[in-house]
Amino acid sequence: METRSYDIVIVGSGAGGGTVAAGLSGLAEQGARIAVLEAGPRLRQEEFTGHELEMARRLYVDSGGMLTEDRSITLAMGRAYGGSTVVYTGVTLEIPEKIVEEWGVPGLDFQDLNRRSRRLSAELGVHCLDDDLINENNRAFARGCRKLGWNLNKIPLNIRDCRGAGICNLGCPHGAKTGTHRLQLPRAEKAGIEVITNCRVETISQGRLQTLVTNSSSGLPSSWPEGRYRIEASKIVLAGNAIGSTSLLLRSGFGRIFPALGLGLTLHPALILAAEHASEISNTIGHPKSYYTDQFQKDGRFLLEVCMYYPFTTAKNLIGFGPEHAEAMRAMPRMQQILALVMDDAEDHNRVLLNRRDETVVKYSLSQKSLTSLHQAMLRATEIFFAAGARRVHVPASRKFWIRAGESPEAMIPRSGVLPGRLSISSAHLMGGCRMGRDVSDSVTDSWGRVHGHPWLLVADSSLFPRCSEVNPHLTVMALADRVAEGIRTGK
Ligand SMILES: Cc1cc2nc3c(=O)[nH]c(=O)nc-3n(C[C@H](O)[C@H](O)[C@H](O)COP(=O)(O)OP(=O)(O)OC[C@H]3O[C@@H](n4cnc5c(N)ncnc54)[C@H](O)[C@@H]3O)c2cc1C
Repeated sequence: METRSYDIVIVGSGAGGGTVAAGLSGLAEQGARIAVLEAGPRLRQEEFTGHELEMARRLYVDSGGMLTEDRSITLAMGRAYGGSTVVYTGVTLEIPEKIVEEWGVPGLDFQDLNRRSRRLSAELGVHCLDDDLINENNRAFARGCRKLGWNLNKIPLNIRDCRGAGICNLGCPHGAKTGTHRLQLPRAEKAGIEVITNCRVETISQGRLQTLVTNSSSGLPSSWPEGRYRIEASKIVLAGNAIGSTSLLLRSGFGRIFPALGLGLTLHPALILAAEHASEISNTIGHPKSYYTDQFQKDGRFLLEVCMYYPFTTAKNLIGFGPEHAEAMRAMPRMQQILALVMDDAEDHNRVLLNRRDETVVKYSLSQKSLTSLHQAMLRATEIFFAAGARRVHVPASRKFWIRAGESPEAMIPRSGVLPGRLSISSAHLMGGCRMGRDVSDSVTDSWGRVHGHPWLLVADSSLFPRCSEVNPHLTVMALADRVAEGIRTGK
């Protein structure tokens, strides 16, 4: 087995790993040997075809079909040069001060995260779309919220020269999203940091990583020949996301040292709701997300955001079969969609673990509180649809496939129908598993991502979150990773 040596190795190249790499560029320029090891491929620009199933296979873990243990929730995670930032929608929101206070991580304060988030937002080119670029699906949402007198916010997006292809989650064919594949990783590579793709880290121990390089049918071949490698490194930074970093630590035996490892996973459970309008609306052209409402964030514990998904994903999210389902799919050009995002609590029984075959298992059950939030979100989204002029609305837990204007949503959508397994819930915002905190008894790392008692090991990704961020998480992941890079640079 070949051995290679580095000063610092970063595992994963997404929001966390890419940002740490960019933050260590100065060290690389001064001669430090730094590598990013990424399990996914680096796609050629022409491979971003926009075909739904093809891109899911190329860019997502398990083609986007990874499930929780009870098979009730689909987990979406990117696996590529740039990680999930290649497929994210670009919604860039700052974590609320109240949440950072509630996290209560010693040494972590809101001002610090806020300062980093502002700087990163400027570098990412975050801005809201001009009104003339907003499509009808989004305008309908705005119309509905305004009519109901609810808060309406434009969504800040990290995009540049967006041509409105509308397929952000399949990887932008025009390279308009400023994820780490566009900004941080090229910057790091220019400074001399190596990014090795198709390279999966299997286990780690002090000063050492065991990896396997296997090329896939898509993307550029890895810069290393296929095979197993032993890598020596003085420092290891894990940025494989809430599932990847946690399961790597578990596989490497750290579960025996850290009772909190894997516990308290939050998913920001998401539900897609759809309504049919009488006439065609532009919904697949233009950026899919321009507006959200936080009207129910405090009391209802959910956000409603505009969304528009592709035929396979939409078909999977409609509950029902046969002619009604087919009819709804035929109505896609007249369809309005809203995404409900529920703020779930961190509960220790929701966790990442390994089964007897050492495979990753995600145990997660929706709490009664989350199910109530989902129910409320369905009712409120239905109000927006009808206020926007929809003819009929499809809500998974309702008594009929379609609710018509004039029918009472309360009567049609009983809380008793909102049950796990009867809704098509998904998650793209996985958080926790290696949470920050005080010491080994309550957490895995401190506020600088340093694994307690292991000065050679750090974590810099979404697994650090002690609880869900309430808002879309990528900017907070980047801000935390920026902190981790600073800690390494300054020898904290
Ligand atoms: C479809 C989708 C849409 C989203 N939209 C938004 C949005 O609009 N706004 C927002 O704020 N957030 C969004 N998110 C969430 C956001 O992308 C994530 O929160 C963020 O990217 C997480 O960063 P991370 O560094 O933890 O992991 P990731 O960005 O997922 O990167 C982890 C990387 O590590 C690699 N890896 C894992 N294990 C290993 C290993 N053992 N060896 C080598 N490499 C490994 C993976 O292949 C992956 O590339 C979205 C996510 C998805 C999937």
